[in-house]
Amino acid sequence: MTARVIDGRAEAALLRAQIAERVAVLQARPGLAVVLVGDDPASAVYVRNKDRAAKAAGIAVETLRLPANTSQAALLELIGRLNADPAIDAILVQLPLPAHIERRAVIEAINPAKDVDGFHPANLGRLVDGMPTLVPCTPLGVMKLLATAGMPVAGTRALVIGRSPIVGKPMAALLTNADATVTLAHSRTRDLPEECRRAQIVIAAAGRAEMVRGDWIGRGATVIDVGINRLEDGRLVGDVAFSECLSHAGAITPVPGGVGPMTIACLLENTVLAATHRRGRE
Ligand code: NAP
Repeated sequence: MTARVIDGRAEAALLRAQIAERVAVLQARPGLAVVLVGDDPASAVYVRNKDRAAKAAGIAVETLRLPANTSQAALLELIGRLNADPAIDAILVQLPLPAHIERRAVIEAINPAKDVDGFHPANLGRLVDGMPTLVPCTPLGVMKLLATAGMPVAGTRALVIGRSPIVGKPMAALLTNADATVTLAHSRTRDLPEECRRAQIVIAAAGRAEMVRGDWIGRGATVIDVGINRLEDGRLVGDVAFSECLSHAGAITPVPGGVGPMTIACLLENTVLAATHRRGRE
């Protein structure tokens, strides 16, 4: 048996085309502010890709690049200005932030209605409560890929590996809301291979290169690899040993070309959602 490879690039391209059509009929272009503090090379690449994708969809994107020594107070002041700016519908602060800036303080400063990443506690709380809200882009993209894979989520046993507030925890909430029976694994989980074997859906988001081996995967399971890891030889790999898992899984996402492109497409979708909600209220 060889798993079907889920083409995240193709799915993301479809979604982006739909978003561009929605933007084209809006009275004013949605405004997205992307804030990058410091010069982390991976963050710079992510921000550049988001900027390009937003422009291509017709979104008015403004990328603000601040030096690494920007103070927390200066960053909070900028967020205050973006919150008050009527042309800005959506604010994204690229993570990670430099060590002297407290992530929680920055996220809590963003107006929840403009919190396009869905990381504000008000939005995460609404998500856990099963209410409509701005949902973190990566887990949202994963849910869309599961739908693409034709994987019915309700009633299945799903394992999420990783419990970060930006991927693992919201992922577990989304799967729970979709009626899966969810196990949330982390670095203290006792027998991760066995937890994996029991799952019909495995979402790997641990940031550990090729940690999930082929014989961890139950026959026919759907495997979604969120991890992005750069090896010493320069290759980019996920958290899943892709070629080993191909012969066990029913469907699997590659890295690159799986979850990553969907994350960006969902950012654009959230921007349009934030814009239409805000304007509807004005
Ligand atoms: P993170 O904040 O570092 O969290 C990693 C999580 O994995 C933690 O909960 C940690 O457990 C758990 N973990 C670490 N080693 C483990 C192990 N050996 N066994 C089981 N669990 C383990 O990372 P993140 O921000 O969630 O990102 C996770 C990965 O996804 C990274 O590779 C990141 O680059 C990637 N990512 C990709 C996208 C995308 O668009 N494709 C978006 C965001 C992130 P503890 O809580 O016990 O420490």
